[in-house]
Amino acid sequence: PARPGDIPGQAPAAAATLNESDSKALLAQYGVPVGADLTAASVEQAVQHARSLGYPVVMKIVSPDVVHKSDAGGVRLDIQDDEAVAAAWRRIHDDVRKAVPQARIDGISIQNQARGKLELIVGARRDPQFGPVVVVGAGGILVELLPTPLILRAPAAPEAVKRLLQTLPVWPILAGYRGTPLAVDAVVDAIVRASWLAADLGSQDFEFDINPLIVAADRCVAVDARIRIG
Ligand code: ADP
Ligand code: MG
Repeated sequence: PARPGDIPGQAPAAAATLNESDSKALLAQYGVPVGADLTAASVEQAVQHARSLGYPVVMKIVSPDVVHKSDAGGVRLDIQDDEAVAAAWRRIHDDVRKAVPQARIDGISIQNQARGKLELIVGARRDPQFGPVVVVGAGGILVELLPTPLILRAPAAPEAVKRLLQTLPVWPILAGYRGTPLAVDAVVDAIVRASWLAADLGSQDFEFDINPLIVAADRCVAVDARIRIG
């Protein structure tokens, strides 16, 4: 794929941590596939957003004070109708207020529920020795259980990304060993594009992660991301 030249709305100059929605928007400017994401300020607006996206949806807390959203009760999956949106709205607020009493709540994000067979984590940071690097590993709840992810310098070439994927313990799942192969080329493309962002941020201190990139047979999509710059 061709690397985009002039990316509008480039990274901010001052130190910043972008929230999930802004992080995904920046990744989307590089062509990384991200799920649609609408932030609601009221329960009525949440229902409107869910209807316009189409059920099932996922609801997530939007707060600068809640980094691990599901640990704080801030993520609800598989929401199937208007009533479930209203119930999730209340429960997310109750649970997050209990878990992080001082949290500023900026709203609730409504997203389509992505389906997939595998979750990957794509991380990037400025390494003191190598400069901008990307790391890839199995994501979601598996992230702590699997061996240390391997590192690629950014920008990464598609061939290098594919070789890296082939060394992961989850490669047989991607390759469809005794099952349907997953969208490996789309995963390679998403990682290459994320590495372009890493390369562009590489002159300053930064880190970001996509966790998870949900991988299906025909596509992949980033459903959570966090970018810290400076
Ligand atoms: P956090 O990492 O802050 O706890 P996430 O946004 O990653 O919150 O959500 C937790 C988990 O919920 C994800 O790892 C993924 O398994 C699932 N999830 C989140 N968003 C979606 C989505 N849009 N579609 C499908 N699954 C999702
Ligand atoms: Mg996450």
